Amino acid sequence: MAVVVNVWIARTVRDDGPTPVDYTSFVEQVRSGNVESVRIDGLTLEADLRREVVLPVGAAEATRSIEAARPEFAADDVLDVLVADGVPVTDAGDGDGGGWPFTVLVTFGPAVLIVLGALWLLRRAGGGAAGFTGFGRSRATRYERPGQRVTFADVAGVDEAKEELREIVDVLREPERYRSVGARAPRGVLLLGPPGTGKTLLARAVAGEADVPFFSQSASEFIEMIVGVGASRVRDLFDRAKAEAPSIVFIDELDAIGRTRGGFAGLGGVDEREQTLNQILTEMDGFDPNQGVIVLAATNRPDVLDPALLRAGRFDRRVALNAPDHAGRLAILGVHARHVPLAAGFDMADVASLTPGMVGADLANLVNEAALSAARAGRGAVGRDDFLAALERILLGAERRITIPEHERRRTAYHEAGHALAGMLQEGADPVRKVSIIPRGRSLGVTYQSPSGDQYSVGERYLQGRIIGALAGRAAEHLVFGEATTGAEADLELATALARSMVGRWGMSPVVGPVAVLSADDPSPVGLPMDGTSEAMRNLVDEEVRRIVVESLGRARDLLAEHRGRLDDLAAALLERETLDEDDARRVAGLAPVAQRDARRGLGSSG
Ligand code: ADP
Ligand code: ZN
Repeated sequence: MAVVVNVWIARTVRDDGPTPVDYTSFVEQVRSGNVESVRIDGLTLEADLRREVVLPVGAAEATRSIEAARPEFAADDVLDVLVADGVPVTDAGDGDGGGWPFTVLVTFGPAVLIVLGALWLLRRAGGGAAGFTGFGRSRATRYERPGQRVTFADVAGVDEAKEELREIVDVLREPERYRSVGARAPRGVLLLGPPGTGKTLLARAVAGEADVPFFSQSASEFIEMIVGVGASRVRDLFDRAKAEAPSIVFIDELDAIGRTRGGFAGLGGVDEREQTLNQILTEMDGFDPNQGVIVLAATNRPDVLDPALLRAGRFDRRVALNAPDHAGRLAILGVHARHVPLAAGFDMADVASLTPGMVGADLANLVNEAALSAARAGRGAVGRDDFLAALERILLGAERRITIPEHERRRTAYHEAGHALAGMLQEGADPVRKVSIIPRGRSLGVTYQSPSGDQYSVGERYLQGRIIGALAGRAAEHLVFGEATTGAEADLELATALARSMVGRWGMSPVVGPVAVLSADDPSPVGLPMDGTSEAMRNLVDEEVRRIVVESLGRARDLLAEHRGRLDDLAAALLERETLDEDDARRVAGLAPVAQRDARRGLGSSG
């Protein structure tokens, strides 16, 4: 079974424009490779980030969008770094193209759309000779020249995938060898795997190893913003790649346009998607396989792809990337710590043990955060404490310095004590690593549970325990204060999502039976009923979910009522000390110290 329970962190990120940061922090993000795209408007730089960061350091909220003013006298190489990393940089300044169409669109909307549509038709009819070439060009295409680039040495923990891709590298390097024996070179390879597992990195490494140009674009960028340009963007991308063959075309998020036709309308509407998809198919069918253009595409949803894409001569090879195991994580940490001075006696294997469920992108971020932690403290080498601090920061969010009214602190203390106690009392639950009522991010408190090892599937009882644990915060509040608060929203969402998956996806409801009702074809954790599911079945699933959640809340209450003394002790200790680690929490609750536990996979936390 795929990873079922991963990093559960109840955190809401407000989305109201970029967070202003100082230029130094901005450059830091650029250098750490965390910048996805940049818009420039005069001296204002605005960046979308790949991973959330908390900036300025100590701020209340994590953000994925930052903005900084570039000093006029700056003479740095930020732009070079961005371009070398293939980060799209657009200039939104007045007069120089780039941003104007979007501003105009927002202002005049439909009228402009009609004009643009007409222009586009003209351009199509006239083969682009009308002097209007701005829109069809795949401006978001990233291009990397041969030379100075990513290689397989930069990608760790995915040896099998590298092995499979080595043939592609060979084909690109020595096409004659294949041509001479009449072998048909592969045209398309699909890279499958969850976000952050290194699909893009691996595609770039294939280009790097073969020393050929790399053209990449995200499928959603083909069709965003302006209707009607998807197909021409695809054509443009392939034309450029063919002109520089041998080369690699990389299409990220293929599922954004490659979903089964006639299905759930995604971005840009069905027609737009279909035309864009058809154009990709046409391009792939059209070129001579030995011409030397190989298409790599990435998706984490192979199950929703249009079968036409997977037919022979198209994406007929698949390479799967999974969340790394301990050895994989250790290797990835090693790659990212190559240039980081590590403290004497520090063993990275410890960090690999603490990070089950984390993927390459998370680990890269972790190493960087640890280095920042050492730098902040003025230490010359990065050690275990830096990694622990970084892990805590990433998993739990940065601490906030705000004053909480005493009655709310008390309520929070009981809420978290409830989560923690339920986690500690239930056999087989992930060990409770930390309980805290220091506000972080948007949450007032946090109980952090994480497994002791990698595990690839989990049992029904464990899941029931997770639901009870998630509801135990509310149960404690109810038990002690006699009323519910709004503070348990994320807990309820988690409990409901777990129950829904148990019933609809994993066949764990005796009433519904081992029937798959919910499709994984939905970005929300809740899951949508699959096509053909009857109304009656949907109702049954809803009823079962409700039953499980209600019963679990009852069980949480009973459990805490039975151990009320322990609950009171934990809450009192939290009020006094704010944070308890695993040993403290167990001691306070009068439980035996940590024993060796069965390996559990995933990381857990509830607010
Ligand atoms: P995906 O395309 O699968 O979402 P990316 O290739 O964009 O993931 O990964 C983002 C970043 O995470 C990479 O640039 C790299 O720094 C790091 N990373 C991910 N996987 C690995 C890996 N297997 N080895 C080394 N670094 C990795
Ligand atoms: Zn909670």
